[in-house]
Amino acid sequence: MISSCVVSLLNKPSLFLKGSRRLHLLNKNAYINGQWVSAGSKAVFPVINPADDKVITEVPDMEAADAKAAVDAASSAFKTWKDTTAKERSYILRKWYDMCAKNTDHLAQIITAESGKPLAESKGEIVYGNSFLEWFADTARHINGEVIPSPWPNKTIMLTRQPLGVVSVITPWNFPFAMITRKVGALMAAGCTCVIKPAEDTPLTALAAAKLAEEAGVPKGVINVVTSSRKNAPAIGKVLCEDPNVGCISFTGSTHVGKILYGMASKGIKRVSLELGGNAPFIVFPSADIEHAAEHAMLAKFRNNGQACVGANRFLIHKDVFDTFVQAFKKRIAKGCIMGPGTKEGVTCGPLINTEQAKKVTGLVDDALSKGAKALIGGKPAVEIGSKFYESTILTDVKPEMKIYAEEIFGPVAVCHKFETEQEVVAIANGTRSGLGSYVFTKDLGQAFRMSRQLDFGMVAINDGILSAAEPAFGGIKESGIGREGSKHGVEEYTDIKYTLFSALDK
Ligand code: NAP
Repeated sequence: MISSCVVSLLNKPSLFLKGSRRLHLLNKNAYINGQWVSAGSKAVFPVINPADDKVITEVPDMEAADAKAAVDAASSAFKTWKDTTAKERSYILRKWYDMCAKNTDHLAQIITAESGKPLAESKGEIVYGNSFLEWFADTARHINGEVIPSPWPNKTIMLTRQPLGVVSVITPWNFPFAMITRKVGALMAAGCTCVIKPAEDTPLTALAAAKLAEEAGVPKGVINVVTSSRKNAPAIGKVLCEDPNVGCISFTGSTHVGKILYGMASKGIKRVSLELGGNAPFIVFPSADIEHAAEHAMLAKFRNNGQACVGANRFLIHKDVFDTFVQAFKKRIAKGCIMGPGTKEGVTCGPLINTEQAKKVTGLVDDALSKGAKALIGGKPAVEIGSKFYESTILTDVKPEMKIYAEEIFGPVAVCHKFETEQEVVAIANGTRSGLGSYVFTKDLGQAFRMSRQLDFGMVAINDGILSAAEPAFGGIKESGIGREGSKHGVEEYTDIKYTLFSALDK
């Protein structure tokens, strides 16, 4: 949360991007029960553009009572939404998809304004995020049950999938559109309703998506958006986890907050779907195509300026190809990582999201350098561009006693380690409580299968730096989460299996 005295030093809210281009779909109110509303207290908080620290606008700083009103609205809407046909839900989701596709440029401008990512990446996020609405519009019509042969004569066993009810959707700032659509598309397809609490840094994308949902004909109360500053998030989180009308908590964010929410959800034995932090290894074996691996290292590391849960966090490179790989990687960084505001043509690396994140990345690199690590490129903040910019960096000679060795960096810093054997690299890669994404580069087919089996991660990409899409099941193991998003399994998070036994119905 930015304190009020700092806010007063910032520019007055302006509804304009640089160059006086108006942000379409910019909403300054939250969305509850089909109404665009302020907080009960009338409090607001500023949404800051991290590229220039200017205030984009202010939105309601809601509290527990507002969250309760949103849950009540979603609960009331559930009574009718659950009884709509799969075909109707599919149709509405498809219309929402069409609206988002039509408004790709407007949505992308809002993402860039509040998250700082380059416009091309923001557009990519809309295409990716929208693919979940398209996917779940189709999936809605295939949430089938089962009729099972019974062990008793003249009886029938039937299993059907029932929607869970109200889902609390709590999302992070790094993919402010996609992290919403991959949950809300699935839960709406299943027949659930929701209350969305977006991150303090990026509420505007959530409000814009809700506006398009409204225009697409999503009935009132099916989607509600409660905006709040970081200060009020715990009180709102308590309502969203503990209110008896909530059936499921669907959270994407840090493992630390995930554990708090999981604890609160356990009081009411609520269903949880948790997409948490990662610590992805990026492993390069000697048989790999090194130029290809370096190209994909750029995607796995520098997408969203390193602020991705599946971002490569530990580069584990075989000693025989270490020098060749780091040189190829360095060359690409020098040419391809162009810092600046996301609205500027040619920029590929925007700012970090906020001051805390900028301080964290700076602190991790400074600690490593002070203990003997080497920066092959980068290694310091780029204050000449803005307060939250950090140079794209490669670090070598990193040791376990350095803080950066084990942490999820969430910034544009690639830490490169050497290994000698397959057994050794599997042990290093698995030596973490995180288990989300992982990457392996090898041309040895047997090794590719062995790595797929041996890596303790929910997702393993062989010879590729990008693995997210609507079709596969996205999710982690260990402390990276519970449940899967996307794929046919995505809707299962939001349904219960009901078993009905039919007996004594024949004469
Ligand atoms: P975060 O601090 O955990 O925040 C995520 C969301 O939780 C935000 O909306 C935040 O609101 C809210 N929140 C924080 N404390 C809360 C509480 N006590 N009750 C209710 N809500 C609360 O995470 P972040 O810094 O935004 O995102 C980065 C993390 O997310 C990284 O660890 C990353 O790996 C992970 N992530 C995981 C995935 C995945 O699919 N596995 C995808 C993207 C990101 P405020 O912003 O208002 O604090």
